[in-house]
Amino acid sequence: MLIDGHGREVNYLRVSVTERCNFRCQYCMPETPFSWAPKENLLSFDELFKFIKIAIDQGVNKIRITGGEPLLRENLDYFIKLIHDYKPSIDLALTTNGFLLPESAQRLKDAGLKRLNISLDSLKPAVAAQIAQKNVLAKVLSGIEKALEVGLKVKINMVPLKGINDSEILDILEYARQRDIRVRFIEYMENSHASSEIQGMHGREILELVKKRYTIHKIGRQESSPSFNYEIEENGYIFGLIDPHKHDFCEDCNRIRLTAEGHLIPCLYFDEAQSIAEAVKSNDIDKAAAILGNVLENKPKENRWGNDEDENDSNRAFYQTGG
Ligand code: SAM
Ligand code: SF4
Repeated sequence: MLIDGHGREVNYLRVSVTERCNFRCQYCMPETPFSWAPKENLLSFDELFKFIKIAIDQGVNKIRITGGEPLLRENLDYFIKLIHDYKPSIDLALTTNGFLLPESAQRLKDAGLKRLNISLDSLKPAVAAQIAQKNVLAKVLSGIEKALEVGLKVKINMVPLKGINDSEILDILEYARQRDIRVRFIEYMENSHASSEIQGMHGREILELVKKRYTIHKIGRQESSPSFNYEIEENGYIFGLIDPHKHDFCEDCNRIRLTAEGHLIPCLYFDEAQSIAEAVKSNDIDKAAAILGNVLENKPKENRWGNDEDENDSNRAFYQTGG
């Protein structure tokens, strides 16, 4: 079992397989041109897997693959199969913008993927294009349908932004309800890489909007999930709200993050990370395990997104850590 310096059990590893992306979301990586880490700095899937095996052997039972856009990385199904075959019971999930799903959903499912979180910020082509800075909506929607068709469990992530897609919160709720899939509204997390033009919505503002149409009841969090769930009285639909500004979920945070370059990150907000790259490249399993132990020992107690606007900016780039 993996226990951090604050006594929390860590059983969840998020692995970012690339920082590259085919979108340029305003809240994540709006600027072009853009310089990526050189490809030769990336760990191969076999190298990443060496670390993943250590983490699984020590108690990790939930893995999420993310990015950047993970579907841009070639042979992702090979990586998924490596993990799945090592421990078929592992809760293996992927977060994606959905654009490349129409052609890849079946392969991902066949490789052993169980669940998908798909980002969907708007149902209007022009708004989706404004946020992603690309004409994306039709492919994302058909990606969602394809994922459902091949039998993957799907959740939708939406980041509501003032004056951009806030008027669509109820529409996206309805879209997800009709397909019997969970939507989670994510508070915009301020970071120095995002566009300075955008303004996020606080969780309470998102709830106020939903309450204009529905009566909602608090349900709570499932295990260590950052998502707080609510049930709509009128139709029984359950949706989630991820509100890191409250950081009450840090109390039972169960996750660490690994980047494509091998940085092991204990908390999404902070810059601190240690590299396992040399250890896995030289097959020094004891050293990689020791770095894992050290990162856990030094995992911060909580993030620093708060209600004081001046203190909110994290330097962490979400496209590197996977959000
Ligand atoms: N490209 C994939 C996607 O968009 O789903 C995976 C990586 S993305 C960094 C993971 C999640 O982080 C997405 O749901 C995205 O909406 C969210 N995200 C990115 N930047 C964010 C920010 N500044 N605040 C809140 N959520 C953010
Ligand atoms: Fe790409 Fe996802 Fe970031 Fe949007 S949120 S720019 S899709 S990594």
